[in-house]
Amino acid sequence: MPADSKTASEPLGAAASPLAIDEQYIRNALDLGREAVKRNEVPIGAVIVRDGSILAATTNRTIRDQDPTAHAELLAIREASAKLDSWRLDDCTLYVTLEPCAMCAGAIVLSRIKRVVFGAWDEKAGMAGSIGDLLRHPKLNHRPEVRAGLLAEECARVLEEFFRRQRAVG
Ligand code: ZN
Repeated sequence: MPADSKTASEPLGAAASPLAIDEQYIRNALDLGREAVKRNEVPIGAVIVRDGSILAATTNRTIRDQDPTAHAELLAIREASAKLDSWRLDDCTLYVTLEPCAMCAGAIVLSRIKRVVFGAWDEKAGMAGSIGDLLRHPKLNHRPEVRAGLLAEECARVLEEFFRRQRAVG
């Protein structure tokens, strides 16, 4: 296909840089997080992508589901596995607005996800470098490639605003 046949509305052509692609998907996850605020959920969004298509797009649902394990990443992994009818997500990239916790990092390792890109650091619970690094633990048999802190400030701001408002209400 000649390059000039592409339309201007095509967001990510073959020529888009990996950085631009990563940014686009983190922005998708951010938009999901912002949507979750309206339902009073902690605004964390996640998407799982394979071969340029989105397999799963989720947010935290701990309040809606009254389920402490209903984190965006875990729900995204379940959704992508269901869609592929496979527990292995080898060729997938997970994008999430906040550094994964211990539970989600464990699920990421189990799912064999190839790559993880996250936004804000979570100094209180993050297990991708903050309080430990389960994703790249040398003794585990699967270690995804990790890209940390992409659009970190923007991702952190959405969370900070949410918690500030929560405190003001409470
Ligand atoms: Zn988690």
